[in-house]
Amino acid sequence: MALLVQKFGGTSVGTVDRIEAVADKVKAFREAGHDLVIVVSAMSGETNRLISLAKEIMEEPTPREFDVLLSTGEQVTIALLCMALIKRGVEARSYTGAQVRIVTDSVFNKARIQSIDDCNMRADLQAGRVVVVAGFQGVDEQGNITTLGRGGSDTTAVALAAALKADECQIYTDVDGVYTTDPRVVDTARRLDKITFEEMIEMASLGSKVLQIRSVEFAGKYNVPLRVLSSFQEGPGTLITLEDENVMEQPVVSGIAFNRDEAKLTIAGVPDTPGVALRILQPISEANIEVDMIVQNVSADNRTDFTFTVHRNDYRRALDVLQNVAKDVAALEVKSDNKIAKVSIVGVGMRSHAGVATKMFKALSQEGINIQMISTSEIKISVVIDEKYLELAVRALHSAFELHKPEDNH
Ligand code: ASP
Ligand code: MG
Repeated sequence: MALLVQKFGGTSVGTVDRIEAVADKVKAFREAGHDLVIVVSAMSGETNRLISLAKEIMEEPTPREFDVLLSTGEQVTIALLCMALIKRGVEARSYTGAQVRIVTDSVFNKARIQSIDDCNMRADLQAGRVVVVAGFQGVDEQGNITTLGRGGSDTTAVALAAALKADECQIYTDVDGVYTTDPRVVDTARRLDKITFEEMIEMASLGSKVLQIRSVEFAGKYNVPLRVLSSFQEGPGTLITLEDENVMEQPVVSGIAFNRDEAKLTIAGVPDTPGVALRILQPISEANIEVDMIVQNVSADNRTDFTFTVHRNDYRRALDVLQNVAKDVAALEVKSDNKIAKVSIVGVGMRSHAGVATKMFKALSQEGINIQMISTSEIKISVVIDEKYLELAVRALHSAFELHKPEDNH
């Protein structure tokens, strides 16, 4: 018997039939003796529908009113799920974020949770009721409804699990776990039994879209064991947890993440003098453009090349800014490319193993893939390559690191 927080995403509650199926699942857990707090998303497509309604009226909806609107999607599903549970003889009670009291700051559309009152939930659990909470929403100190950003129900679930010191936070979704890489690209991609918080944060920020990143950061911070499972098939899913004490048990590389969302800009032949990096990047950040990778060459003839990547949506604007900077710093040339892709290998085992980068570069060179940029952290190595070789690169790396084999064979 455990205290579990279970979150069901939009697809899992996408129709009345699916809500009934979730109720069957919850009933079975209840009958097994578990205490349950259920968090639900809006029915799939509903949040997008609400967004387009708002945009029919105004292109940039008033943030406060936008949150009042967006939070309604989840209010529908908590009520329907409770009805389905009560129909099955399972006592249940629904709560909006404000009713629980999930208190957030007042940053509408991307509010952060500040505190959670567990009184109502505890009383219901004590009385044998299943608690059903609307994901993605909270209330600020002044009583305004807020929302937590797209995908925010994951964060609601983790935050409730942390507040209640739940035994596990289970995220039920339309995939049966976290994979070594995207199975649509590599057909031998394998579901991981376990992955660390740190690795999952890297995988999520590098383009693997299973969980909202903020929810994983939150789970890591409060050490909430987090499990990703399928709503539609039985299975153990993937457990996201702390690093194993035994370092030798850690796979060197756990997964391969990639994205096509970036673009590369180079300002060539800039004078190699103090303050140049600042003069290049300050106008970029003043234009509210986020920079990801940065590479600066050693200089030849007191001039150097400076390359960085930005999100592809910011490409045009970044290029405009950079062209002005080029005049300002008397650079020789601006070059740019938005047909690039970033591929990264991720694994906490890298900390204790040498030769990981060599193996990566060898696998890419054997396929004749040119590496344009490299960046590393303790637990990942990323390369920028030509977009057209992305899938080939991911497949080559997946087999070079033998990710198709079960974990204990690494
Ligand atoms: N319904 C919200 C969204 O679609 C929150 C969530 O599903 O996690 O982003
Ligand atoms: Mg989601």
